[in-house]
Amino acid sequence: MDWIKKDQQYIWHPFTQMKTAGDPLLITKGKGALIFDQNDNEIIDAISSWWVNVHGHANKYIADKIHEQLLCLEHVIFAGFTHKPAIELGERLLAYLPHQSKIFFSDNGSTAVEVALKMALQYFYNLGEERKTIVALESAYHGDTFGAMSAGGDDGFNEPFKSHLFKIERIATPTQGKEKTAVDQLKKIIHENEVACFIFEPLVQGAGGMIMYEPEILDELISICQENNVLCIADEVMTGFYRTGKMFASNYLKNKPDITCLSKGLTGGTLPLSLTTCNEKIYNAFLSEDKMKTFFHGHSFTGNPIGCAASLASLDLFELESTQNNIQRIVNSHQKFAKKIASHPNASHIRQRGTILALNFKTKTETSYFNSIRDQLYHFFLDQGILLRPLGNVVYILPPYCITDKQLSKVYSIIEKALNEIV
Ligand SMILES: *Cc1c(COP(=O)(O)O)cnc(C)c1O
Repeated sequence: MDWIKKDQQYIWHPFTQMKTAGDPLLITKGKGALIFDQNDNEIIDAISSWWVNVHGHANKYIADKIHEQLLCLEHVIFAGFTHKPAIELGERLLAYLPHQSKIFFSDNGSTAVEVALKMALQYFYNLGEERKTIVALESAYHGDTFGAMSAGGDDGFNEPFKSHLFKIERIATPTQGKEKTAVDQLKKIIHENEVACFIFEPLVQGAGGMIMYEPEILDELISICQENNVLCIADEVMTGFYRTGKMFASNYLKNKPDITCLSKGLTGGTLPLSLTTCNEKIYNAFLSEDKMKTFFHGHSFTGNPIGCAASLASLDLFELESTQNNIQRIVNSHQKFAKKIASHPNASHIRQRGTILALNFKTKTETSYFNSIRDQLYHFFLDQGILLRPLGNVVYILPPYCITDKQLSKVYSIIEKALNEIV
C-alpha cells in the first residue's frame, strides 16, 4: 500500500499548491516535541504544528482525560442543555481573564473572530446606535472565513475574494517608529466614521510575519478607543496560553479589551475548539424581551464536551510548576540565542516575545511569502530533522513547552547553519 499515492488520489491539503508541492510526509506518531515519519525518522516540531500544540504530542494526561470524557458524554446540543466540562472551563478560564465575564463557544480561530465581529456589530445594533466601521491593523491575520479575511491585511492571499470582502479601515501596525502614525490614523478614522470596533493581534502579529510591537502603544490605542466608546477585540488565537511568556498577551496591558478570541493552544493542541469571551457591558446589551436582540449564532459542535475536557486538562498542565519552569527556560534560552546571532551578517530584525523567537534572513531579492528562499529554507530545515515553516524570509521558533534543551540547541544550531549557508 502506497499511502502517499493514495493521499494524492484523495486529499486536497491546506495552503498548498497541489501541482507543484512535493510529496507530503506521512507522520505515524508523535511524542513530546517530536513527530515520526513512516521510517521512524524523528522530526522536531519547532512550530507546535501550526501553533496549536503547546504541551507536545500524544500527551498522556490529556489523552486520559479525553478518554474519560468520551466514555461519559461525547456531545450534547448546547442550546437548552449544558454540561459540567463547559461550565468548569468557563469558571477556570475566566479567572485568568478577570476583565471578561462570559464565554461563547465555537470551533476554530476564524469562527472565534466571526463571533467577535458579530458581537461587536450587534452590540451597537441592539443599542440602536449607527456604528458600522471596523478598524484593523495592517498585516493582520484573523483567519480564512469572510469576516476574518476582511479584517486581515491586504496581502494577496484574499485576492480572488476581494470584491466580496467588507470594508475595513486599516491603521499601521505600531512597530518601533510607527507609533505616532498609528495613533494619528486611528484618531482620524474615529473622527470621520462611526466606528464600532478595533480588532488586533496583541503584541505579535503571527501569520503577517511575527511582527512585534510594545504593550505601551497598544495601551494608548485602546485608550483612544475607550474614550470614543469603540469596542476593542483582542485576537489572542495565537498569542494565548503563554506564547508571549504570560498566560495572555493582554496580561501585559493596562487597558483591557472588551472581547477576546481564543483557540489554537486552548485544547493543548488536541481538538478543535475556540472561545470568544466578552465583558458584562457587551453581554448585557443582548439581554432583552425583544427576541431580535438575541445573538443568533451557533455551530453544531458548540461547547463540545471532549474539547472542554481537553482544555481543562491543558489548564491542569499549565498550573504545574514544571510547565511554568519550561516556559521560563525557553524564554531564557531564546534570549541567549538571540544575543549569540545578534551581529550575524545574514540575520536582521532578531526579535523575541516570550517563547516566540523570530528573525529575518537577509536576501538580495525582493522578499514576500511567495519568495523562493522560503521553500529553500523549509526543505533545508526538514532535511536536518526540524520542522520550521518560514513566512517568506522570516524564520521563527514557536515550540511546544516540553521541548528539551537538547532539542532546542539543535534547532538553534540548524538555524545558524542556514544563516551561514543559505543567502
Ligand atoms: C490562526 C489564527 C486564526 C485562525 O484560526 P483557525 O483555527 O486557523 O481558523 C485567527 N487569528 C489568529 C491571530 C491566528 O493566528
